Amino acid sequence: MSDSYKSARQRMVETVAPRVDDDRVLEALEAVPRHEFVPPDRRDSAYADRPLPIGDGQTISAPHMVAIMATLLTVDPGDDVLEIGTGCGYHAAVTAELVGDEHVYSVEYGPALAREARDRLAELGYDGVSVRVGDGREGWPEHAPYDAAYFTCATPELPSAVVEQVRPGGQVIAPVGTGRQTLVDATKRPDGSLERTGRGGVRFVRLRG
Ligand code: SAH
Repeated sequence: MSDSYKSARQRMVETVAPRVDDDRVLEALEAVPRHEFVPPDRRDSAYADRPLPIGDGQTISAPHMVAIMATLLTVDPGDDVLEIGTGCGYHAAVTAELVGDEHVYSVEYGPALAREARDRLAELGYDGVSVRVGDGREGWPEHAPYDAAYFTCATPELPSAVVEQVRPGGQVIAPVGTGRQTLVDATKRPDGSLERTGRGGVRFVRLRG
């Protein structure tokens, strides 16, 4: 792939690096062509560390936010991950770099976003990523249990269906709250209850539906 954005991407990685203590995440950010995921008229801003509109009233998260969430996610290659909110597919591609594309399952509410993300991911070689249209609050039971799940949209509370679909010892990461949100990093105990850690204030688009 000819990649005239390579040096811009390297600068982006250097910008977020101080907030990331996991080299695998930095390598993933270096590998995924973010400019291919944003609308063509936004390409020149693709490697700025800020959110960008992706259509349907939605936004792709800023690179540092994807990096922080990917760093919190304690996964190894081969672990199965559920993503709620595919959007343009960028975050899913970063996760695919960590676990392998066939281990990423993503649910998107907007049919057009889902279709475009699926096509884009396939074109860029992440064809093993599974994308389905639906309400992420219901998770994706067919592929459960997951080693981890994360939300890229803010939810008033962690939906019980998603928590149920994560294995004991697994992890759920989500921006939780209406208005003000906290990035919640939860581990599922053997009895099914959650041990929650707050990872600071964040601002994500709200869960739809
Ligand atoms: N990870 C995405 C970020 C997209 S923004 C990226 O890299 O582009 C959040 C996404 O969550 C939007 O695409 C929005 O449509 C989706 N979303 C909102 N509510 C949802 C729901 N109930 N179920 C599934 N997806 C939802």
